[in-house]
Amino acid sequence: MLTVGGNRHARTRRFREWRPGIRRVLPRIPGEVMAVIAELKARGFQAFLVGGALRDLFLGREPEDWDVATSALPGQVEEVFPGRLLVHTGKRFGTVRVLTGEIPVDVTTFRREGTYTDGRRPDWVEFEESVVDDLSRRDFTVNAMALDPLAQKLVDPFRGRGDLRRRVIRTVGDPQSRFSEDALRMLRFYRFQAVLNFRGEAETERVIAQVAAEDPSLLAKVSPERVREELNKLLTGVAPGKALRGLVRTGLLTIIAPEFTPVVMDPELMEHLLATVEAIKPEPHLRWAAFLHDLGKPATRIQDGTGIHYFGHEQAGEKLAAVLLERLRFSRAFTEKVLILVRRHMFPCDPGMSDTALRRLAAKVGREALIDLLELRRADIVASGNHYHRAWRILSEFASRIQALLREEKVLTLSDLAVNGRDVMAVLGLAPGPEVGRVMQELFSWVTEDPERNTRERLLRYLEEKKKKKENSPC
Ligand code: ATP
Ligand code: MG
Repeated sequence: MLTVGGNRHARTRRFREWRPGIRRVLPRIPGEVMAVIAELKARGFQAFLVGGALRDLFLGREPEDWDVATSALPGQVEEVFPGRLLVHTGKRFGTVRVLTGEIPVDVTTFRREGTYTDGRRPDWVEFEESVVDDLSRRDFTVNAMALDPLAQKLVDPFRGRGDLRRRVIRTVGDPQSRFSEDALRMLRFYRFQAVLNFRGEAETERVIAQVAAEDPSLLAKVSPERVREELNKLLTGVAPGKALRGLVRTGLLTIIAPEFTPVVMDPELMEHLLATVEAIKPEPHLRWAAFLHDLGKPATRIQDGTGIHYFGHEQAGEKLAAVLLERLRFSRAFTEKVLILVRRHMFPCDPGMSDTALRRLAAKVGREALIDLLELRRADIVASGNHYHRAWRILSEFASRIQALLREEKVLTLSDLAVNGRDVMAVLGLAPGPEVGRVMQELFSWVTEDPERNTRERLLRYLEEKKKKKENSPC
């Protein structure tokens, strides 16, 4: 059993000099959370603010969600907050979501967990009346503190505040057993490094590399959705490159994504991908596209008299990326958003392109993807360093032309046409089907020649003429 730090209060006093102390954190706790804690305490239960919210408050960050740990059993929590419960799904694990105002509060009974035969969930959950036992089942020291805001008492048995100060991620207890209990924690170890820009304790990383090498199937027991969520948070963090390098060093990346196996063998390519990730805006689909955009390079690499080429690497990369994203159970819409960027990332970016050619490009990729593609190209250039100034100038000129086109609201995609599929069906007497799409494409091509043609009247006339031609046609 881990022991509670002896002179905790002395430490707290010392910390107050360099970081917001408890008193500075208190006013930032929402009224809803205070009310939940106060009501539980008024009924004689213990109640603490715990987990990520407390960590984030100490760091001056905005917490995502609010967790309260209590000695009350789930049924007792329900009695304290009748009619103010949101969901009961977590109840089996002791969690009840309480809504007293705008902000929901997840109230969880103190837990001490048993063995983990499936490597994910404890076989039994026993409710214990001890906050320290609850904290000792948490993953990292910075996530394993509890604050009673009414008593102004911080419970920090694993020196989480010291690790916050040193900016280090360290497991609660022995890393080896904590990771074999739940392999997802290995990923979380890197996720928090990326999100908080902390470093991971070196010894912990050594253990991860060992666990990953000895039993690569451990991570396979973790649900793809959980892996996906951790990777999303990692990629959109402030320091994704550092965390991803850790995943490469320990072998975790190729366990999760074997598609990267040839990429990690080419350190220059890997570094380029990481630099692109860091250079692009922190939106999930952009970060994923940056990470995956050159996945097809190793398979398409050829060398001839003129140098090294990667013909068709964007199509090859798209295929690999599709397999990876599907395995992680990303939604279809998200996957398609990423794949279109991988597929088109080599789009010609020539400021001398004609308006018609520009509109054709926009039609192929869509208005939103076009803006994303420009952002991906910008990051790609920043990450390559090659011919930086020239490439940058060309991209800027190209981007201003696209933006001008968007501003002038010229026709850029099918949905910008002054008629829609229903009009096409009505005039030509068509049933819904691929023919409608083909006619829309035809209208679009006609309009890209001259945007002035994009009025409802002219397009309907075009359709009428098309109908007449069809009627008069001998076959
Ligand atoms: P975020 O700000 O992203 O929500 P968080 O720290 O709140 O970060 P969550 O995944 O919401 O992370 O988990 C809430 C808390 O539950 C954590 O702070 C940690 O104390 C504990 N926890 C979560 N997942 C695990 C796990 N796999 N093993 C042990 N403890 C965990
Ligand atoms: Mg959270």
